[in-house]
Amino acid sequence: MSKLADLHIHTYFSDSTSSPEEVIEQARKQGLSCIAITDHDTIDGVRPTIQAAQKYGVEVIAGVELSSEMNHKDIHVLGYLFDINHQPFLNQLTIMQDARVERMKKIILKLDELGIKNITLEEVCSLARSKSVGRPHIATILVKRGVVRTIKDAFDKYLAEGAPAYVGKHKIAPHDAIQLIHNAGGVAVLAHPHITQVDELIAGFVESGLDGLEVYYPNSFDASTKFYENLTKKYNILATGGSDAHGEAKKNTYVGRMKIPYELVEKMKNRVQGAGYRVQS
Ligand code: AMP
Ligand code: ZN
Ligand code: FE
Ligand code: FE
Repeated sequence: MSKLADLHIHTYFSDSTSSPEEVIEQARKQGLSCIAITDHDTIDGVRPTIQAAQKYGVEVIAGVELSSEMNHKDIHVLGYLFDINHQPFLNQLTIMQDARVERMKKIILKLDELGIKNITLEEVCSLARSKSVGRPHIATILVKRGVVRTIKDAFDKYLAEGAPAYVGKHKIAPHDAIQLIHNAGGVAVLAHPHITQVDELIAGFVESGLDGLEVYYPNSFDASTKFYENLTKKYNILATGGSDAHGEAKKNTYVGRMKIPYELVEKMKNRVQGAGYRVQS
């Protein structure tokens, strides 16, 4: 049987509810040979997941999903196969995480002014196993308190851009995210382009060294999958894919929801080597 991979998985080190052990158990049930851990602005979940996978022979690739911004649009850049000990890379992640904590303080203040009292930073931070805290954690608390019914309602009513408790995030430019990943020896892939909708920017990203597009993603229409697949051919870059699993925090997807042929992982490794990079896992 041919090997399958899922290259977009979050853990409770960012805004998923899943532990590394749970992720590996689901990966095994789904018959995956290879997964990538791609938490938001942190790689704290990578080592524990490699550890959890050891006795099962599931390959775990080091990944990350960096929050970047351009033209007032949130642009997520996935990084893969970088050196998890590269100090400048780790330093930048720390800056991004510290900014996330500061942002949570500001959101808590805004909610307080709106009459939603007693949400503490400690409670928010207790929901993530790293400093990569985000709006989904606040949303979870608002649901738990009965302030809103669902996570989506929490975003619509309070947390989304334009809503009264919205606070922007410290973000780097996409080409800086690409550079950061390259400097750490990895490849950079534009996450879920059919959701992000920045088609007019992709040529520029490729010029900045973008290595691939996340073509295969749950609920993407065939026509849009084909469109991005064709773009990867046009630019001679990688096509990748994954489930964007978040455990209980995002119920419309799960580990293995998107399975891609392992050949695409091999192409990714070849690209790293071809660029003179070191393959880490
Ligand atoms: P943050 O990193 O704090 O900006 O939060 C972004 C995350 O919140 C995204 O990765 C989504 O998973 C989630 N999110 C963003 N908008 C919504 C929404 N309208 N409803 C539910 N979840 C959302
Ligand atoms: Zn997330
Ligand atoms: Fe994303
Ligand atoms: Fe994601």
